[in-house]
Amino acid sequence: MKTLSPAVRRPSPLLRSGIPSAGPARRVPGTGSVLGAILDHGPVARSTVARLTGLSPASVSGHVGQLLARGLVRESAETVGPKGLGRPHIPVEIDTGRYLVAGAHVAVAHSTVSLMDLRGRIVAEDRQPHRATDPRRLLGELASRLARLAEEWSDGRTVLALGFATGHWVDPVAGVIVEHPQLGWRDVPVRDILGAATGLPVHVDSHSRALARAEQLFGETSTRTSTVLLFVGAVVDAAFAAQGAMHLGPRSGAGSVAHLPLGAGGTAGEAPCSCGRTGCLQSEVSEHAMVRRAAARGPAVGSFPELLEQALAGEPRAVALFRRRARLVGRAAALLLDMFDPEVLVVVEPGAGRIPECLDDLRAEVAERSWVCDDPDRVVVPSSFTGSVLATAGGAVALGALYADPLGPWPALTAAS
Ligand SMILES: [Zn+2]
Repeated sequence: MKTLSPAVRRPSPLLRSGIPSAGPARRVPGTGSVLGAILDHGPVARSTVARLTGLSPASVSGHVGQLLARGLVRESAETVGPKGLGRPHIPVEIDTGRYLVAGAHVAVAHSTVSLMDLRGRIVAEDRQPHRATDPRRLLGELASRLARLAEEWSDGRTVLALGFATGHWVDPVAGVIVEHPQLGWRDVPVRDILGAATGLPVHVDSHSRALARAEQLFGETSTRTSTVLLFVGAVVDAAFAAQGAMHLGPRSGAGSVAHLPLGAGGTAGEAPCSCGRTGCLQSEVSEHAMVRRAAARGPAVGSFPELLEQALAGEPRAVALFRRRARLVGRAAALLLDMFDPEVLVVVEPGAGRIPECLDDLRAEVAERSWVCDDPDRVVVPSSFTGSVLATAGGAVALGALYADPLGPWPALTAAS
């Protein structure tokens, strides 16, 4: 048997007990719920915001006043309510003309930087393959690329903050990438490094939690009650949110489903996972696993994007590989549905997002295997951001922080108000 190369050998195990606890979750303040209601319903009258949030009209007026002073919302040009009867109701909406957030996502083979407006719309993005994965060098290059992107695309708007997202084990409280085996990163203080390089407030999170937050804020299925998100790319991981709050776990390790055993079936003779076992979710469905299977059975491709292009063009062997993947992802989805019984399970996987048979297969597998999900067509949905997932993830980390605490320490806003 081949031994594992040094690049993939598992380092000595990290003891989660040795990592400090994240502490209690923060409650969303009233101003955050007002800003969220304006995002969802704007242009919207203050009286409607009061009804939506359950806050008193006086309290909503106070919060809106603070948001206006900070330039996060503006009064809309249109008016609502009966004309000519007293003072018109001037509705308020998110002000997309003054501020942007920046995003950065680091994947296994490439990185994406982006600019996003306060409604979550991507203004510009730039993706580049890694020249090196040394964290300080890579993060330094990200900072330079962001500066160039902002210079070219900000159009006079101020960048408020930078959000950073990547796969595997990320501690958003400490601002640290705890462990990313494929990049060889461990305990990388991303918040400090990027904060020093850009001068911006930096927020860090896992890409799964970032994309689950993006679904809550801007997604097509605007669920606030409970969401599970399963990310299937070069890395496989997950996120769980309930009552609008992301579950991190005491050391931010929640969602580490890469080594979920998929059970017997079709895995004999397969290459082992990096953990040494066979039949793990990640070793069966990751981009690397897909390219490896394509090399063994065809079609001949040089990379995962090429394999996806072939499948989208209808190449039968490529389509079959994506359909097999959809079935296996469906098994994992069924387990997660039974564990959490979420209102919605979002699958971030390009096959499910772009090839109708794959989504059908995935839902069929869920229907066969889940004990609690009796309506996979409604509950299991593809990402709202198919095609722009990585450009969305980083910015969503920053916007998630802004919408959670718009009166928090945002230096650019403090200076303006
Ligand atoms: Zn494994």
